Amino acid sequence: SQKVLTIGEILVEIVATTKGNGFLEIQPFIGPFPSGAPAIFIDQVGKLGTPCAMISRVGDDDFGRLNLNRLAADHVDISGIVMAKGETTGSAFIRYREDGSRKFVFNIANSACGKLEENSEIEQLLQQCRHLHLMGTALSSPGLNKMALKAIQAIKSHGGTVSFDPNLRAEMMTPTLHADLDAVLAQTDLFLPSGDELFLFTRAKDEHTAINELLNRGIREIVLKRGHQGASYFAEGKRFDVAAHSVTELDPTGAGDSFGGAFVSFWLNGSSPQEALYYANIAGARAVTFLGPMEGTSTRVELEQFLNVAK
Ligand code: ADP
Repeated sequence: SQKVLTIGEILVEIVATTKGNGFLEIQPFIGPFPSGAPAIFIDQVGKLGTPCAMISRVGDDDFGRLNLNRLAADHVDISGIVMAKGETTGSAFIRYREDGSRKFVFNIANSACGKLEENSEIEQLLQQCRHLHLMGTALSSPGLNKMALKAIQAIKSHGGTVSFDPNLRAEMMTPTLHADLDAVLAQTDLFLPSGDELFLFTRAKDEHTAINELLNRGIREIVLKRGHQGASYFAEGKRFDVAAHSVTELDPTGAGDSFGGAFVSFWLNGSSPQEALYYANIAGARAVTFLGPMEGTSTRVELEQFLNVAK
């Protein structure tokens, strides 16, 4: 089956085990957990047995090794992930507040990931892969942006397909990023926004108009993620909805990436949109029941069994 490629950040997450407003007192943590939205996505694709690879850069430290070991164990081709001597892998400290919101401290500005450069392994993956999944963060990072735009051209010139998950918030938007996003959307076959992200890309005020506008711009299929309210699939003249499964949410980070990895995997392997949505909805629900963003990615058997276990 067709090999899936993603490009983007790899980091670790270290999570406070008590709830509260931040890090101003000494407190217990759990981690490091492998993380980075594209890394979680591709780990989910690998676990489902779809051939896949990631282009990224980590430091030659244990945080980098932890991620590479996990991805390799889950059948992700890591030949395009550079381990840079003397550099560090990014990290994020996270603490949940009582209301479910999160406080972050990021250590990513000078991490190895920002200095990605082409090499022969990366060139080979660009030739080999037939599907590219991009995330907005790859476009907003100066070190990854050029590679991301180049990868779209490479994949498309071989007749491949592109999926795009914006993973962006309104306050991250700049005019340059807007221009790049327009260029990416023009090449996107499958668009996977969540919630209000839909409105970062159109001036429409309601969902129906926004979806139609995007379909009219040439995106063939749109999957809208709605958190604990499930998800919807749209294509010209078609719409399917799924309600979310009722689960105990332990850690919402990574749900959208696990959902996306599952959807793309089934979609590429010939499943109908309904079937892909069905499995992605389970992957997202299962993901939130695990502490740690990448801990809740699923094998096919885990997806099949989850509904029985959850009841
Ligand atoms: P993102 O992480 O990109 O914001 P969402 O939070 O919308 O994405 O989650 C993606 C999908 O995961 C949802 O569409 C849904 O299928 C599933 N999901 C997320 N949160 C829950 C939840 N609390 N209960 C059940 N399913 C969930």
